[in-house]
Amino acid sequence: MTMHRKTLNAPVAIEGIGLHSGIYTRVELRPTSAGSGLAFVRSDLDGLRIPAHQSNTTALDYATSIGRDDVSIGTVEHLLAAIVAAGITDLDIVVDGTEVPIIDGSALPFIHLIEAAGTRELDATIEPIRIRETIEVRDGDKFVRIEPTRSDHLQIRYNVDFAHPAIGKQSMKLELNAESFTKKVAGARTFGFLRDVEKMRAAGLARGGSVENCIVLDDHRVINGALRYTDEFVRHKVLDLVGDLALLGRPLVGEISASRAGHALHSRFVAAVLEKSAEWEASENRQHADSASSGAYATAGRQE
Ligand SMILES: [Zn+2]
Repeated sequence: MTMHRKTLNAPVAIEGIGLHSGIYTRVELRPTSAGSGLAFVRSDLDGLRIPAHQSNTTALDYATSIGRDDVSIGTVEHLLAAIVAAGITDLDIVVDGTEVPIIDGSALPFIHLIEAAGTRELDATIEPIRIRETIEVRDGDKFVRIEPTRSDHLQIRYNVDFAHPAIGKQSMKLELNAESFTKKVAGARTFGFLRDVEKMRAAGLARGGSVENCIVLDDHRVINGALRYTDEFVRHKVLDLVGDLALLGRPLVGEISASRAGHALHSRFVAAVLEKSAEWEASENRQHADSASSGAYATAGRQE
């Protein structure tokens, strides 16, 4: 299954405070040509370009950052989730500071931004990574696993289990596409516990966090109003995973089961998938070369 590459129809911008830095930044999404991929561009640093790829992942505490040398851009996952869920493969994400604005803590403002610009198919295709055997990464009882599927889509099953009266056990199953993401996942907000705030602020995190951009929980309940979904927490974990999967650089086809994971485990999973898929593709290329040199039909095993 081959897919068309896609970009935006027109540039669009949004601005706001960074969840961890507390610094106000502007992010502009600019259409690009086929094959340029998703890349962050620091407009305040002479347009320094950092491709949105696993190899550029830096920090993973509480959010995903990507960077190169001493330069980084933080909290990229909600914006990337909206971009890849919309099927966009080629886009410059121009930021004038160190962190993508958090806006309301969900991906919905980014979805609205993308919808306002509209998307456009490019005259080029992209081949998804199709899973051929089970891959699993684990940390104690936390894991992310993917298995092959006969479908052409990515299925995600996610479980969380927080020892907190407002969360507890939640699970969600989703077949990922633009519509299901927008309806079921995009609006789910990030969440944080009051008991962690002091520790996080001491580590230079959560400086822009507030009741405006985060579900805040004390030891008993949510302290800032109604939830958007009763199981908003697990939905947000799915959102985070979709954003972290963007760092594969290609769409993914398979059945994911994730349990109690977070950015660090998502990132190890992405690295494992990239390593395995490189092996599969190298061995397939060798087979093609062998069958071509022995005079057999070289198209055998080619996937559509
Ligand atoms: Zn998040």
